[in-house]
Amino acid sequence: MIEFQHVFKSYGRGANILADINFKINSGDFVFISGPSGAGKSTLLKLIAGLEPPSRGAITVKDTRIDHITKRAIPYLRRTVGIILQDTHLLYDRSALDNVMLPLAVMGFDHHTSLSRARAAIVKVGLGGKEKLNPIELSGGEQQRLAIARAIVNHPKILIADEPTANLDQENAQLILEVFRDFNRVGTTTLIASHDRPLLQKHSNRTLLIEPGRFTDLGYHA
Ligand code: ADP
Ligand code: ADP
Repeated sequence: MIEFQHVFKSYGRGANILADINFKINSGDFVFISGPSGAGKSTLLKLIAGLEPPSRGAITVKDTRIDHITKRAIPYLRRTVGIILQDTHLLYDRSALDNVMLPLAVMGFDHHTSLSRARAAIVKVGLGGKEKLNPIELSGGEQQRLAIARAIVNHPKILIADEPTANLDQENAQLILEVFRDFNRVGTTTLIASHDRPLLQKHSNRTLLIEPGRFTDLGYHA
């Protein structure tokens, strides 16, 4: 589903953030990207979503090479990869429902289809009944759920989240993780960057560890 072959990434003339990264993620996997702040977790996720190009190496997402052809691959990636960035990028000048409808409108779906799909996505993340609220009226955990709804409304095969529990207490962090689990159970390949050790230890999953200058595939344990 996702393959990195000898991938390097630096920004501008800076040093390599990621150097000679190799790994493969299979369809349906649930993977944590762990490691200290600043080590390159966000960078790795952005490479998979095509939001940053690699400096060198090959990145394959669902049988398509996305390095070098990033611009052309963007519409394809938007359908294939749903991403929730650290800053959720919710829009506070419109309702929760309108936030979730936005990606569908951008893709050219008609209003009726967008509406019913967005409503379904909101129910799936447990926000049924809150469609009309402005995101500002939602709690931190609910805003995170809304960002998840927006990321999955296109039914992406791959779901990526950058520190989705960063600003949440343990209980809400747990609930958010359950939402990701639900999407993973129905086949969505899921990658979550997190440095929340207690959370990672509670869930036995494949973990890729990114430390400054070092990449380790810890395999299937917390
Ligand atoms: P993490 O997600 O593990 O905290 P990041 O991938 O955000 O790590 O950052 C890794 C390193 O890359 C940091 O030193 C950060 O300052 C640098 N970096 C991230 N994005 C950019 C950018 N757009 N331009 C220059 N440097 C960046
Ligand atoms: P900009 O409008 O600044 O050029 P982009 O067009 O790259 O930024 O992305 C616009 C918004 O869409 C961003 O908030 C980004 O998080 C989101 N986005 C980008 N790629 C994806 C994706 N594959 N799935 C879901 N949302 C995405």
